[in-house]
Amino acid sequence: MEKLQYERPVIKRITGQMPNKFGLRTEYEPMTHIDGLAVKELIKTFGSPLYVISERIIREIYSQAKKAFTTRYPKVQFAWSYKTNYLDAVCRVFHQEGSWAEVVSGFEYEKAKRNGIEGKHIIFNGPYKSAEELSTAIKDNAYIHIDSFDELYLISDLAERLNKVPKISVRINLDAGIFPQWSRFGFNYENGEAWEAVSRILLNKKIELCGLHSHIGTYIMAAYPYGVTASKLAELAVRIEKKFKHNIKYIDIGGGFASKNTLKGAYLPGTDTCPSFDDYADAITSALIKSEINAEHLPVLILETGRALIDDAGFILGTVIANKRLADGKRATIIDVGVNHLFTSFWYDHKITPAQPFSPYTEDCTIYGPLCMNIDVIREHITFPLLNKGDHIVISRTGAYNMTQWLQFITYRPKVIMIDVDGNPHIIRENEKLESIVSLERIPEHLQL
Ligand SMILES: *Cc1c(COP(=O)(O)O)cnc(C)c1O
Repeated sequence: MEKLQYERPVIKRITGQMPNKFGLRTEYEPMTHIDGLAVKELIKTFGSPLYVISERIIREIYSQAKKAFTTRYPKVQFAWSYKTNYLDAVCRVFHQEGSWAEVVSGFEYEKAKRNGIEGKHIIFNGPYKSAEELSTAIKDNAYIHIDSFDELYLISDLAERLNKVPKISVRINLDAGIFPQWSRFGFNYENGEAWEAVSRILLNKKIELCGLHSHIGTYIMAAYPYGVTASKLAELAVRIEKKFKHNIKYIDIGGGFASKNTLKGAYLPGTDTCPSFDDYADAITSALIKSEINAEHLPVLILETGRALIDDAGFILGTVIANKRLADGKRATIIDVGVNHLFTSFWYDHKITPAQPFSPYTEDCTIYGPLCMNIDVIREHITFPLLNKGDHIVISRTGAYNMTQWLQFITYRPKVIMIDVDGNPHIIRENEKLESIVSLERIPEHLQL
């Protein structure tokens, strides 16, 4: 029998089987495996920390989302939001499932083309697109979503010079009944600016108006604002048909559906409070179907869902570096995953689970990352089992934004692996080395060694 590890005794009031105000305590299990692969083995093979993406979970969640919409509306198209996670392997899973690409920069645009997406399946969003990037998009027949009148004038000028009709949609911001209202992107609906933009485009025969777009925010915790958005866009589509006899091709509702993560300070876990894809789909499609839009020219419904499609498929595996006691007596556990690798820990209380069996004893604890920075706190307060140096942990729901907003700060970024649907691990991004970073640096002559 293996020698048992010593654990420092702690004195605790017994609360077993005693309900707190939410009911009985929920026991939780160690997370020893991901998609059939042992966490311990993954770390031994690929190092710690380690990003893990489950291809199975991506495909399962995508099919749930798709089903929620296609069963309620006849024409649906998803466009993968590159900035949410633009690792090529991840994008390609979404493209294989039928997603177009939704990009917000020239860099993301190039990445989408590299992933085999033709211009006609790229939606080009964002407040800044250079004249060069716009020219490429016009030549490629990509859908360009304009953000300002200045951009519209630039595009009209380019259209003339390239002698090609650009495919334009208008990004619209509106009051969907939520706070804060994102009014910095696109044209405002309520003050008539959106209508002016649409009219200007339709009076210009050298530009084609293809769609109406609104992305009201991110992690929207209710479905009704999407209903408001869909009906306002539908109303605009009806007005366009009336005045210009023009039928738009699509209505794009943007992204912003909440993932199942729990926001810091939230009273209940995100798994209990966030709407489902069915809730969002119901709000959006019923608004479109009940609208006055001409049924013979029903626009395609485009969704640019990011976060809600990828968060659950991402995990970060880490290792306990040390335990110590803070000045006030509180336990502190230091792990090798820092805020540089888990950017979303600034606004989420991520689910953190030990990766090996643990004793029933828990203690209030702060979990710190490895950085020599006071802000490197992964979890301020957590009632956690006592872990030992060398034990592993799994941080769940980390697929969205962490692999794009991560920082090369103080330490190297680790490997990212994808576990395919047959349970085989593949490296999809190598860990950084000194060379990856210094290869971009240049040393002036007088500082040469
Ligand atoms: C970021 C972004 C998305 C994706 O947002 P999520 O909140 O991750 O779903 C979609 N559309 C646009 C225009 C965006 O900027």
